[in-house]
Amino acid sequence: MGRLFIESISSTMVYKCKCCRVDLTSSGQIIDKNFQSKSGKAYLFNKVVNITLGSCEDRSFVTGLHTVSDIHCSSCHQLLGWKYVSEGLCGQSEIQRREVHS
Ligand SMILES: [Zn+2]
Repeated sequence: MGRLFIESISSTMVYKCKCCRVDLTSSGQIIDKNFQSKSGKAYLFNKVVNITLGSCEDRSFVTGLHTVSDIHCSSCHQLLGWKYVSEGLCGQSEIQRREVHS
């Protein structure tokens, strides 16, 4: 494992990983507090730090089909939720991965 860089957030209200308490995002980054996920109520944030992305997949939501990627805590690898990924960005990361393996 490489060295882990943890970004800290200076805000009055900081959302942290429930397992290792690493800073993830702040109340100022909330886009939507009434977001619904399959597991219940969820918050939609503009920016989240200290996360790693899983592989991209298409999931259907009330608003239609979206490309999303699971997000994990970069410190303890706890599953935190998921993130919208634009199809273009998802394709880019796929290409990069292929280049690494060839
Ligand atoms: Zn964690």
